[in-house]
Amino acid sequence: MHHVILGTGVAGTLAAETIRRLAPDHRITMIGDEPSPLYCRPMISLLLEGAARPSDLPLRPPDGLTRLGARALLGQRATAIDAHRRQVHLADGQTVAFDRLLIATGADPRSINAEGLDLEQISPMRTVGQVEAMLAALPRVRRALVLGGGLVGFKAAYSLLRRGLPVTMLIASDYPLALQVDATAGAMILEELRRHGLEVRVGVEARAFEGRKAVERARISDGSTLACDLVVVGKGVRPARAPVPREAVAVDLGILVDEHLETTCPGIYAAGDVAESVDLARDTRWVNALWPEAVEQGRVAGANMAGRRVTYPGSLSRNVIRIFGLDLMTAGLVTPPAAPEFDILSGLDRRLGTYRKLVFRGERLVGFTLVNAVEQGGVLTALIRSRTPVEGPRARLLAPGFNFAALLTRGRQAHTLPRPAAARATA
Ligand SMILES: Cc1cc2nc3c(=O)[nH]c(=O)nc-3n(C[C@H](O)[C@H](O)[C@H](O)COP(=O)(O)OP(=O)(O)OC[C@H]3O[C@@H](n4cnc5c(N)ncnc54)[C@H](O)[C@@H]3O)c2cc1C
Repeated sequence: MHHVILGTGVAGTLAAETIRRLAPDHRITMIGDEPSPLYCRPMISLLLEGAARPSDLPLRPPDGLTRLGARALLGQRATAIDAHRRQVHLADGQTVAFDRLLIATGADPRSINAEGLDLEQISPMRTVGQVEAMLAALPRVRRALVLGGGLVGFKAAYSLLRRGLPVTMLIASDYPLALQVDATAGAMILEELRRHGLEVRVGVEARAFEGRKAVERARISDGSTLACDLVVVGKGVRPARAPVPREAVAVDLGILVDEHLETTCPGIYAAGDVAESVDLARDTRWVNALWPEAVEQGRVAGANMAGRRVTYPGSLSRNVIRIFGLDLMTAGLVTPPAAPEFDILSGLDRRLGTYRKLVFRGERLVGFTLVNAVEQGGVLTALIRSRTPVEGPRARLLAPGFNFAALLTRGRQAHTLPRPAAARATA
């Protein structure tokens, strides 16, 4: 049995390690376009900030794949998958045959529509190579521009500010982290960022970049011009589905997978940021591009490829971030659609600078936002995951010191998860 794994990120690597553990005699080939084995992708912003060293990032030794007994084709890009002939085509013309295939290609940064994007010192922040290039340019940078107020844009802006650079963030929405939080929490985050010197311009976009070799200025949609020597494009990500054969493998936003992480083509699996599975809070298909989900999916896909029957329970979106002096934690559905089945309970304490928002669907907690009051976030996450009904009057839940752990131990728990209601997704 020959397993081929596309992508040497966390999902691909954990799948390979699981296969090796469960099926020691199976052959494994790993194909990845980055030159190094697994590293901690979420930490690349700490490298930019100067809070981590390059040696802190690797999660496996340089010869880790060889020690695993896997053939490693690193620095190689897969261009196409022939599902019928069971082959992967690589950019250098090689063809690799497979019995079982895992697509663990992660996500690609969303591109933007602007002129001058080919100038130097304009880059997304997805790989350690891109951050190393930014670090090499830093001595020449006097002013940085970050496009996008999502998680990656936010982390880039924060890191560059900590480097002592003046940073401007351009966001199309009214506040940063608009996919993660509502307007109330967004306003608190915006205030905190501005208080610490970040210039945030909302409702605008970059239209063009100008410079001789490297970027020198940006032209903004409101007609203004901004001097900048480094531009980080952080406009979100999309599942990296480029080599996927659409006639054989169904895709929506991500690659559709069943509870065993197998795609619609038998013997081809998908895991990590590229896969679209079931969201536990939404009860529908969703792409939750998160490190812990990629870890779990890699393990489950690897076990199933090795011949076990392991079920992936579904994913849950969640974020825990410290923004200077502000702690933010969110999970599940934080801004539900306006529908009678949803009930929102929220409390803002301006004096303490805290905000708590709980989102219910019927009796179940399906999402929350906590600003500067994150102590019970773990228990709230467990309430969502366990689908524990929250009975009794709701107002008491916002009382200071209310013990959510008691709900978790007392409530009835549903042990079977529903199938997804519809095929729908977003990043
Ligand atoms: C700056 C930053 C901060 C983040 N912070 C957090 C955080 O705080 N918490 C959190 O949960 N998540 C965070 N994430 C997201 C997290 O890193 C991802 O969810 C996780 O890395 C997904 O793992 P993966 O294995 O699915 O994909 P990836 O890590 O993207 O790995 C996929 C690999 O496949 C390669 N590849 C793609 N296409 C091809 C191809 N055609 N041929 C060959 N190779 C290919 C890619 O280059 C990559 O090496 C962050 C991400 C970034 C960029």
